Amino acid sequence: MTQEELWQAVLAQIQLQISPANFATWFKNTQIISQKDGMVFISVPNSFAKEWLEQKYNKTIFKTLYNLNRGIKGVKYEVGKSGLKLVKNFISFSPEDEQLEFREFKVGKETNLNPRYTFENFIVGPFNELAHAAGWATTQNPGQVYNPLFVYGGVGLGKTHLLQAIGNEIVKKFKRKKVKYIPTEKFVSKVIASIRNRQIEKLKSIYQKIDVLIIDDVQFLTGKEKTQEEFFYTFNSLYEKNKQIILSSDRSPKAIPALAERLRSRFEGGMIVDISLPDLETRIAILKSKCQERKTDFSEEILNYIASNIKRNIRELEGALNILIAYQKLNNNPPDLKITKSLLKNLISSPNRVVNVKKILRVVANFYDLKEKDLISVSRKKEIVRPRQIAMYLLRKELKASFPFIGRRFGGKDHTTAIYSYEKILKELEKNESLGEEIETIKHRVLCG
Ligand code: ADP
Ligand code: MG
Repeated sequence: MTQEELWQAVLAQIQLQISPANFATWFKNTQIISQKDGMVFISVPNSFAKEWLEQKYNKTIFKTLYNLNRGIKGVKYEVGKSGLKLVKNFISFSPEDEQLEFREFKVGKETNLNPRYTFENFIVGPFNELAHAAGWATTQNPGQVYNPLFVYGGVGLGKTHLLQAIGNEIVKKFKRKKVKYIPTEKFVSKVIASIRNRQIEKLKSIYQKIDVLIIDDVQFLTGKEKTQEEFFYTFNSLYEKNKQIILSSDRSPKAIPALAERLRSRFEGGMIVDISLPDLETRIAILKSKCQERKTDFSEEILNYIASNIKRNIRELEGALNILIAYQKLNNNPPDLKITKSLLKNLISSPNRVVNVKKILRVVANFYDLKEKDLISVSRKKEIVRPRQIAMYLLRKELKASFPFIGRRFGGKDHTTAIYSYEKILKELEKNESLGEEIETIKHRVLCG
């Protein structure tokens, strides 16, 4: 395995452990430049990334490298030297790689669709057969059967895959139809930008010309009133012209908070289908199909182990497979069950991954270099107030703790303090990206630390 391949294998694993935003921010344009006496030297694009990787991710990076190669003793980061070729596409092991997963797919310029998502490679089981059937029916007669089609389900269960497969299939069948896929977050930022530049009419007219509009993750419309207004407008004018609209969300329309009533009732006006959790057999079938795509194979025992332990997320199933494939490449041998268990330790829920109040307090205190008792004290010092608010926010967000409970847990404070803290952080998260990074890191430590 070359240095590049080793780094790709590391990235493939780290990608699974942190949020996509964090991953893109901190790991883009990194690579191994050299190895000497067990030290691995990693080039990073700037000193900010260097500092961040050293302080927040060093342990994860080291552990991952060490797992793949026991000879590694440490990691050093260097700000990139000019003339170095930077890794363009982190999910490619090597150019000659045949594997589907790692082949570069070109996202359509007009449609924004990724051709890797098709109906052919979408496995159907009891958990998603309705969604699949409704999706397929939509491709036969866009705009005529289910309009809008609203697909909802948990993270990593195939919503994006299905939505894009529908789009790709329609493009294939109806060459002249204008299909457009857009994640809600992108739609939101486009609306905001065009309001700022006074170009909202232009944006509107672009969307008027679409025949099939696919909007992913509409739960992100929450609380964004102006965008909801624009969206309502676009929705109606397409709908009236019998254009197909396809939506996804991580929850049902009813459960999306702060969604304008008229928009909610529009969402509910068509076909709503959910994707639930795949059963064991389907999980094994998915693994087998992914193995085939990747032209590799693992024993029944190993596939069974993965499928029995990863139940809630198909992306994680794929992630587990990626880790095993990386190992297999490195060692020219598939891992046995014992090694598999140790490789997948981080991914598979262990008692360690159980989140509780104590753990959140401990991790937050640690992260900000405070004592747990500082967090529950009455101190108004800035260095303490903020971490305290973040801890309260996490208790609410991750444990769904009630506000009175949170107040009590923080030294008998009033529930209004808990509400205030939660909302303050929530609001700030909308604007402050680095706070988002911070909280993601904390969450990761709560889960894996
Ligand atoms: P979501 O949008 O619901 O979070 P994705 O559509 O991104 O989930 O799916 C996560 C990963 O799992 C993707 O790589 C996708 O290709 C794969 N996947 C999801 N559902 C299926 C399925 N039914 N068959 C095969 N692969 C799937
Ligand atoms: Mg998705």
